[in-house]
Amino acid sequence: MKVAEHYRAYRPRPLRREERDKVTLLFGGLTWKHERLMQAILENGGYRAKPLPEIKRVDLDIGKEFVDPGACCPTIFTAGNLARFLREKVEEEGAQNVRDRYVFVTAGACGPCRFGQYHESYERVLEGTGMRDFRLFLVDILRMEQEEGGLEITTSLTLGLLYAVFLGDILTDMEYAVRPYEVKPGETDRVLRESVELLSQKLRKRPPLNGRWRSFLWHATTSYFTEALREVRELWDEVEVDRLRVKPKVKITGEFWLQTHEGDGNYNIKRWLEAEGAEVIPPPIAVWMDYLIHMELWRMQESREFVRRYLLKKLLTKGILWLYHRTYNRLRAAMNNVPHPLPPQEELRKLANPFFDYRLAGGEGHMLIGKALFAYLHRHAHMICELSPYGCLPNTMSVGAMQGVLGKYPDLLYAPIEIKGDAEVHALSRCQMILTEAKRKAQREFEEVLDRTGLTPEKVREFEEERPHLRRATYRVPHGGCAGTAASYVLHVAKIMGRV
Ligand code: SF4
Repeated sequence: MKVAEHYRAYRPRPLRREERDKVTLLFGGLTWKHERLMQAILENGGYRAKPLPEIKRVDLDIGKEFVDPGACCPTIFTAGNLARFLREKVEEEGAQNVRDRYVFVTAGACGPCRFGQYHESYERVLEGTGMRDFRLFLVDILRMEQEEGGLEITTSLTLGLLYAVFLGDILTDMEYAVRPYEVKPGETDRVLRESVELLSQKLRKRPPLNGRWRSFLWHATTSYFTEALREVRELWDEVEVDRLRVKPKVKITGEFWLQTHEGDGNYNIKRWLEAEGAEVIPPPIAVWMDYLIHMELWRMQESREFVRRYLLKKLLTKGILWLYHRTYNRLRAAMNNVPHPLPPQEELRKLANPFFDYRLAGGEGHMLIGKALFAYLHRHAHMICELSPYGCLPNTMSVGAMQGVLGKYPDLLYAPIEIKGDAEVHALSRCQMILTEAKRKAQREFEEVLDRTGLTPEKVREFEEERPHLRRATYRVPHGGCAGTAASYVLHVAKIMGRV
């Protein structure tokens, strides 16, 4: 009997070009909207693609069979999700078919936290399920072109995926801004599904583009995606909202996977907050990518003496950042700027700096402090809900540093929620305690605006009767210095009436 074997590094078989129309690329980790849109772009690029099944509570238990149980919960959930998929597919189609017909593609990065080791957890899953020959490819999210085991990632595919992520963010922002105020229950979800379908069809039909520069120029200048969003906007125009409902605004921050996720992996906390009477500000994925590019820029600036062609590289990175923001803002504009703008990364870094050095990378680094302070100081939210995975080093550090922030800004309502995956009541109960205070804050703010403007909800409703466009989901209410939507809306109506 063999008691020991030499360690063999995992090397997947390459994906041959002639296999492409038979093999399905599996991927996951984002919301169903982002995944559906990314699937459409992958199909447009000639691949068969499919997101992994929705994360379920059972994935945590399955994941613990394979991964170190002290690992952070996103690692365990996602590894368990892959294992569940493989087990079910093997039962349905047989192990050999699964090995030949599917490959799993995941993003990787280097860094001090487990994000740099996800693929190793997935390898444990492959070993544990007896599927070591199953192909798993790791792609670098910061490279425009790469070839990984026959998987050809071109500029066109990368930029298409970037648009898919942006569009997923824009729709998610609309969704959370509208659903708490919808007059007809279920209307937001219906329109959201239709929007995702419409955009998927457009992405699947994206014109074919060959060549790096041609593709780059087309994506930088095209109105293809904004025109598609204008069609989407017509769907949202029909959704009627009642913005006089007073709701606390809760900004979600936290670890990347956990804050983005919508499901059992974070106790479905965004839907739960809505059911508790809150309006949620979801975190766009675009913010994290913006952060990663800025990190590259800041590192380069710090070590400029050692960087060859420093000025050129700096100019190029700044140019990319300009284009990145311009593209995102063009998409927002197509939805009448209802989705939030991306927060300025330089300001986030400055705000966080006294409490958390930006060089402490891993997870979302200093951004958690920066985003909380940005939302508080600019009055974008009544409360911050930070989702911290159990076993996550970067988040533990930022939760610790937040104590210094709270010492300086005791009014900042901050709920750090540790997510283990199996302690829902404990986590939600803690969140509820802070939410109660946020509700009071929102109500006080609303009453102050009514006092200041001399308006009543009845007078606003009378005014709306003559102007039904004010009740459209796509009508943009300017910020005006209030965190709450109802308070901002009354203030806006008062301005149109000439009262303030
Ligand atoms: S940021 Fe935390 S939860 Fe996310 S991969 Fe790193 S260690 Fe895990």
